[in-house]
Amino acid sequence: MPETPIYLILLGPPMSGKGTQAARLSRLLGVPQVSSGDLFRDNIKNQTELGRKAKAYIDRGDLVPDEITIGMVAQRLSQPDCAGGALLDGFPRTIPQAEELDQILSDLGASLTGVLSVGVPENVLVDRASGRRICRSCGKSYHLTFNPPEREGLCDVDEGELYQRKDDLPETVRQRLAVYQQQTSPLSKYYLDRGLLREVNGDQPIEDVAADIARVVNQL
Ligand code: ADP
Ligand code: ADP
Repeated sequence: MPETPIYLILLGPPMSGKGTQAARLSRLLGVPQVSSGDLFRDNIKNQTELGRKAKAYIDRGDLVPDEITIGMVAQRLSQPDCAGGALLDGFPRTIPQAEELDQILSDLGASLTGVLSVGVPENVLVDRASGRRICRSCGKSYHLTFNPPEREGLCDVDEGELYQRKDDLPETVRQRLAVYQQQTSPLSKYYLDRGLLREVNGDQPIEDVAADIARVVNQL
């Protein structure tokens, strides 16, 4: 565990590689990956009340309302394994979420270390979406062409079945990209103004993005 807690945000549109990079960085830094999308999907799989509330929004490609999302993430961040820090993947996605995160971290006696903004052109994002596959049991993401599993249809980590997310179908992806532009992209300026934003080129092979991120994190 690092001496000073390290709280990083991976910011970027759907398909920019946030989850892929957060998982790698989590192993490198020894701090957990906190993915709001994974938390929602776990709640839906386990048929919780929160999952029931969130499902319709997710299926449409809209954001889940802030009051549901913030409570879920705050609870996760209060767990003991996040005391040494966390990599936030997919949260915050709105300005009110970002403001609440500042408050949550300050209540924990901590603060944000930095925000890694992963940039990828829109046409590349759309191409990636069609090939993404997710492990049904652990949530790890693969790509049929760019990041295939060792054995077709099975997760390398736990042999879970790989499936295509319903919200990765083309129409919903378009909606999610529009929602990103409207509601999430203003966060770049929010964090730029606070001196926390670091840009990373996400349109390179996975290993190269990971190397750039490691360099940027070392300089924080
Ligand atoms: P991606 O990795 O493609 O960006 P996620 O797995 O992070 O997608 O999110 C899937 C869906 O879960 C989003 O389209 C949205 O409906 C919901 N969601 C995830 N994180 C948030 C958030 N911070 N605020 C509101 N909704 C969210
Ligand atoms: P996000 O969490 O931002 O939605 P993911 O990490 O799930 O993104 O990646 C989206 C898809 O693109 C996945 O199928 C993943 O395997 C693939 N992918 C991730 N990074 C790259 C990259 N640098 N080049 C090509 N494909 C990538």
